[in-house]
Amino acid sequence: MTANGDDRQRILTGVRPTGALHLGHYAGALENWIRLQDEYDCHFLIADYQVSDHADDIDRVREAVIEVATDWLAVGLDPDRSHFVIESLIPEHAELTTLLSWFIGMGRLERNPTLKAEMDELEERGMSFEDTEREGKRQVVRERGAVPVAFFTYPIMQVANILMPRAHLVPVGEDQLPHIEMTRETARRFNRRFGEVFPEPRGLVGRVPRLVGTDGNAKMSKSVGNTIDLKDDAETVERKVMRMYTDPTRLRATDPGHVEGNPVFMYHDAFNPDTAEVDDLKERYREGRVGDVEVKRKLAAALNTFLDPIRERRSHYEANPAEVREALARGTEHARGVAQDTMADVRSALGLNYLDG
Ligand code: ATP
Ligand code: MG
Repeated sequence: MTANGDDRQRILTGVRPTGALHLGHYAGALENWIRLQDEYDCHFLIADYQVSDHADDIDRVREAVIEVATDWLAVGLDPDRSHFVIESLIPEHAELTTLLSWFIGMGRLERNPTLKAEMDELEERGMSFEDTEREGKRQVVRERGAVPVAFFTYPIMQVANILMPRAHLVPVGEDQLPHIEMTRETARRFNRRFGEVFPEPRGLVGRVPRLVGTDGNAKMSKSVGNTIDLKDDAETVERKVMRMYTDPTRLRATDPGHVEGNPVFMYHDAFNPDTAEVDDLKERYREGRVGDVEVKRKLAAALNTFLDPIRERRSHYEANPAEVREALARGTEHARGVAQDTMADVRSALGLNYLDG
């Protein structure tokens, strides 16, 4: 039994408040979170310290904190069984990040493939700065040097997020696995030198490890704008699906088409429970006996059926935002207590408890 009276193993996982949640979050992560709520003591984190690439639009971040929590409630995460946590309201996260960064080499970050890909994308997209010397004019800078230091070091903060509640399991999408590997190494290294403080956490990847974007991009991602959001209405879903990237080699409905690697069929596989319909569409697509329009219409219908109950629950919380804030306040307060316990152990393990008798 732990100090907080819960003897289940713990989960820590989270989301950045950079926008509404989408189908990729659902199939890659949320589905596992919902399923594991009873079996584990779950901490779900809104990682608002980790939005350095959105720092010029903090109003949007503020909105997204509530939006993400509303999406969580809408998909069935339950704040009576789990803890909804806002990262920056627990400043111990910043402290543990500083202390752990003593033990993580630069090379470890430089070799992290997810970080590398995200930094490349950020550089391409450009960071916007206010150039004070030119009368406060906003400008976009596209170079490595413009990527915030905090972006380069965010995986260390993620290590701190996971180790803070001494989590055993981290259910995430595939892109997060390098960060979990770094967490395991850091826990091992820390424990070896300073005594057993942290469990070594395992990663758990969802049913669809990495859902492609509507544009055919390898990952559906809030920051890229290639998403179908859990809160999109039926018409929006229809419009996004009709514009989806499909088999580029196919010019006419009578051309034999490719099913493998085709995002429209990947979504059918992930979200259309009518496998007979999906198999029939695939067969006809391969033989050039069905057009993209029909395949897409059926996908939009399946997605809307899947999203309907989520939308219904969401509308309750949209009408009652005080319930959302209350869930966040309660979860954050609980997690702060847990964090303070961990930090007391960390400080004494490191010998920073100078004034203790
Ligand atoms: P951003 O573009 O702002 O980084 P994101 O869409 O990548 O946003 P995150 O908040 O970084 O979302 O990720 C939250 C969780 O959802 C992580 O566990 C991540 O692995 C998972 N996830 C996000 N996008 C996908 C996806 N397309 N497929 C599978 N899992 C995903
Ligand atoms: Mg991300």
